[in-house]
Amino acid sequence: MKQSPAKHFAQQPNTDTSKILLQLRNTSRVNEVDLDNPGFGDVFSDHMFSLEYKAGEWQDAQIIPFDDLRISPAMSTLHYGQTVFEGMKAFRGEDDQVRFFRLNRHLNRLNDSCERMCIPPLDTGLLERALRKMISVDKEWVPKKHGNALYIRPLVFATDACLGVRPAETYRLLIMTSPVGAYYEEGFNPVSLTTTDEYIRAVRGGSGFIKTACNYGPTLLPAEKAKEEGFTQIIWLDAHEHKYIEEVGTMNIFFKIDGELHTPQLSGSILSGITRDSVIKLAQHWDIPVHERPITIDEIFEADKQDTLEEVFGTGTAAVISPVGSIHHQGNMLVTDEDEIGPFAKKLFDTITGIQYSTHEDIYHWMSTIS
Ligand SMILES: *Cc1c(COP(=O)(O)O)cnc(C)c1O
Repeated sequence: MKQSPAKHFAQQPNTDTSKILLQLRNTSRVNEVDLDNPGFGDVFSDHMFSLEYKAGEWQDAQIIPFDDLRISPAMSTLHYGQTVFEGMKAFRGEDDQVRFFRLNRHLNRLNDSCERMCIPPLDTGLLERALRKMISVDKEWVPKKHGNALYIRPLVFATDACLGVRPAETYRLLIMTSPVGAYYEEGFNPVSLTTTDEYIRAVRGGSGFIKTACNYGPTLLPAEKAKEEGFTQIIWLDAHEHKYIEEVGTMNIFFKIDGELHTPQLSGSILSGITRDSVIKLAQHWDIPVHERPITIDEIFEADKQDTLEEVFGTGTAAVISPVGSIHHQGNMLVTDEDEIGPFAKKLFDTITGIQYSTHEDIYHWMSTIS
């Protein structure tokens, strides 16, 4: 069959991922956005990075305008959830340089998520180059205001238009970025937590340790019920015995008891938070013993009774540190410092955000510049 050279060229996939093609917008939308008050997650920068998996390899690396997608109603992700994501941030430092926080760790976790969901692994070196390129293209979107940041959301999903339940043969990776506001605009706001006897979040052997869609949808109904009862979020207990503390919504949880730090160990059903890891490393650096171990809800109430429970806080990329004001469990209520952040949580928050905005020495080399 004869093909015109132009058509032949258009059909050639760009399998050379050392080349990232740029297809940029003519004019930026950045002036339409109030970067001092961007909210969280509903404003998107001009461009996104795109990669497609077909014929057995990731290809067509390109930076394209952020836009809606055309998808088949039969796209398997919509039906069976073969999809994973990441959530990380870039910060504009006091010196105007833009830096990623623990980029490699986030990209490796994306691949861990892919592995569990039967998605072909990504070349993290390519993603790193793509992100640097993308942020330099959309540099104006990185907020200048202290406390604000650029949230980075990689998303991978199966694109086969097929109703069979099986691993897909085609996938898409998109990386979108979104300027986000400071979590604590009006001071720290301690959250109130409750356990639930009725629902569970994840079970060992399942997918609780990765960022995949099916871990979040089923938590919405229990979270709404908790809100109706006046609580901010649910503190999840283990699925087997309903005794051990797991995590909170999209945060890991820490307890400071008698001068030492305690957090549930990575049992396979909780997410391996990168903020969690950062908190552990800093605490150890400050010579505070850290215990990663099974923690029962009862022993936390007991420590509160004994007056040894000093602080409770959650950790995650969005808020960094989130003080916990109270925990409700089977009719009993434990109240910490209800409208204050504890001194240790505050020190962690100040140190981590100090490293992120490059006002504090980056002892662990967590930051990497975009150039
Ligand atoms: C993302 C997430 C966390 C926090 O992880 P970070 O890497 O610190 O942002 C904790 N729990 C769940 C369920 C999450 O999705």
